[in-house]
Amino acid sequence: RGGAAVSEEYAQLSGVDVDKPNIARMYDYFLGGSAHFAVDRQAAEDLLQAFPGNTAWAHINRAFLGRAVRELTARGVDQFLDLGSGIPTKGNVHEIAQSVNPAARVAYVDVEPVAAHHARQLLRGDSASTVTQADVRDPQQVLAAPGVGELLDFDRPVAVLAVAILDIIEVADPAALVASYRDACAPGSAFVLSHSAQLQASDTEWSGAREVFAATTTPHVQTRSRVEIAGLLAGYEVLEPGVVPSALWRPDREVSEQEAARSNGYAAVGVLG
Ligand code: SAM
Repeated sequence: RGGAAVSEEYAQLSGVDVDKPNIARMYDYFLGGSAHFAVDRQAAEDLLQAFPGNTAWAHINRAFLGRAVRELTARGVDQFLDLGSGIPTKGNVHEIAQSVNPAARVAYVDVEPVAAHHARQLLRGDSASTVTQADVRDPQQVLAAPGVGELLDFDRPVAVLAVAILDIIEVADPAALVASYRDACAPGSAFVLSHSAQLQASDTEWSGAREVFAATTTPHVQTRSRVEIAGLLAGYEVLEPGVVPSALWRPDREVSEQEAARSNGYAAVGVLG
């Protein structure tokens, strides 16, 4: 984990608070990226102290995202809306999708200035991908943003990704939020979901994790049960193998029981009939 620290240029971006840990930058630290500040590294290390499986969780979650995008592209989906896309790292959605279909288009959306800036740097010159800095809790604003509305054709299938985000945003009715995006999508569209759940970790580990999160820009982390997570996909036909620990969603190699439990959350992909 933890590549070299990001250049100070990032600290000057409008809206960046270098004194408050941020999940996008902590997650980047777990994945070995370089877009994080001292405060993020400290919070990430505190999280590892409280909850030692976190680095594994980040890699497992990211690998699920990769398999889901590859699978959907292979099924013919060529448009992606990545909500809470994070700081680009290895295995970005456009790289995976375009490796299967070079014409695939990807609209990235994240509220964090470092994530948006880093993504824009990476995507310079790529006319098939855009970055929008916006709050995903406002679907009207997200869908109307030029980077989304002008890039994606919602009369054709779009895969909406909400990977490791619905558990950190404060929203009264997460199912209604998912439904707002679903209602904008045509038949054949998909929803890719991963969400924290208490699988292997103890109550003590989770309460330690919550304490660390409380000091971040996303102070509430919410685990949900498998049934609750499945409920978020109302209106979608859930693809096999259903709502499963993230490591077990169509794995491309053998996964031990222990590794499956380290997923610390469930993943699923739904499609609209
Ligand atoms: N989806 C990526 C993945 O799974 O690899 C990144 C997940 S990361 C744990 C969560 C991301 O959600 C962060 O980049 C964070 O900035 C973003 N985020 C948090 N709240 C958000 C909001 N209200 N609107 C948009 N993005 C948000």
